[in-house]
Amino acid sequence: MTKITSENYTSVAKQALKDQVLQKALADLQHRFGIGTALAYQSLPEGPELRFKAHDIRMQAIENLDIILETFAGNVRKNGGHVFFARDAREAVDYCLKVAARHGVQRVVKGKSMVTEEIGLNDRLIDAGIDVAETDLGEYIIQLANEHPSHIIAPAIHKTRNEIGELFSEKLDIPFITDPPELTQAARKALREKFLAADMGTSGCNLACAETGHIAVLSNEGNIRMSTTLPRVHMVFMGMERIVARLEDHEVLIRLLCRAAAAQTMSTYVSYLGGPRYAGQADGPEEFHVVVLDNGRSRMLADADFREMLCCIRCAACLNVCPVYGKIGGHSYGFAYSGPVGAVVTPLLVGINRAKDLCQGETLCGACQDQCPVNIDIPRMLLALRAKLAEGDPDWGVTPVNRIEALMFNIWSWLLRHRPVYDLAIKIAGLGQRLLPQKNGMLRRLPPPMSGWTRGRDIKPISAESFIRRWRKGL
Ligand code: SF4
Repeated sequence: MTKITSENYTSVAKQALKDQVLQKALADLQHRFGIGTALAYQSLPEGPELRFKAHDIRMQAIENLDIILETFAGNVRKNGGHVFFARDAREAVDYCLKVAARHGVQRVVKGKSMVTEEIGLNDRLIDAGIDVAETDLGEYIIQLANEHPSHIIAPAIHKTRNEIGELFSEKLDIPFITDPPELTQAARKALREKFLAADMGTSGCNLACAETGHIAVLSNEGNIRMSTTLPRVHMVFMGMERIVARLEDHEVLIRLLCRAAAAQTMSTYVSYLGGPRYAGQADGPEEFHVVVLDNGRSRMLADADFREMLCCIRCAACLNVCPVYGKIGGHSYGFAYSGPVGAVVTPLLVGINRAKDLCQGETLCGACQDQCPVNIDIPRMLLALRAKLAEGDPDWGVTPVNRIEALMFNIWSWLLRHRPVYDLAIKIAGLGQRLLPQKNGMLRRLPPPMSGWTRGRDIKPISAESFIRRWRKGL
């Protein structure tokens, strides 16, 4: 299992806020892709409303996942491939290691995949003595730097070209260069050798199709085609939700995905993988495997509050407009998924208490839903998670995070329902506030447990006359 550091959200976020290079990179990213995606939706013949149709397609798939996955597995097998349903990360990686051992695999090339980040595939392969090479340029940089991605689509967004130049110089033993095309050429040269020597290729899955048994994988660099066709064995890792029933559903979703992920009309490469090479075919793997990963998704499926999150197609559009992600960056979230999608998915996958800060850190501004290509109501689910943290939930194993806060809100709720007591409490508070420090007619500091509200701002004092009384007097 990959290392999870969601507990360190606050301290990592504080560091990120002080990092000027990161702040500029995040601002540039959000400016480019945030605006770009909104404009790209406008250019759709159906307009941004196509997102609502996409939501229906995805929800229909999620609600019929059992039948769809069974159909998909049947068709992959008919095409000559193998399908393995993994209950958790360990099962998924064990299966991969077993296949690798059977084929004497020593070198693996990987196409970009967040699911393999989720299950910590690289570490386990390396522990087994297998050489693993990420082949997406951003992922390759991150791997050389021994770091984790900070964005779902642009994993090395936090790195400057100088840093990459130094990294390449040290790890690839080349002169220090900073020109992006030259850096790309250096990576290309190093990776070409990896592709040609690899025994196994792995990839993620942007969207599977049940009726044909195919996997669609999108890329702009061409590395996916090399990873999926050159090695003898290919293994796809897909979250069990990344599927729709029909090929015609792909037409809607892929057009939206390209716009959402990179403000493009279409990715440079859209590859469909459907099994091993057949007799007479020039390229393609001799053996083709699909690992369908659950790892907590069934639990989300079973909960009506969170089922909708399984519609996500991991495009990262919500990251590109999120005011919180735009300041704290991806590493603060401490898991494979960051931004608004991470703030919902991570607690559900790794434990709501464990990753409690993620959902509490978001602003509920709603920009994520407006930008989401499948119109997922992320703010609603952030609130549902907060409700669980406030009240506890034995089904999800959640214990209330702050019993004092819960008690305060219960008292507040009781007061609001008992008018005379409320009036008396406000009168006492109005008198009590005279003892607090004030400046320019504002309260400078509230006493604990409300002191957090005045840590960074002043607050208006309670009015001498209540609204109700003024209303009765005709204002
Ligand atoms: S929640 Fe929506 S916008 Fe965010 S990654 Fe998923 S599909 Fe994309």
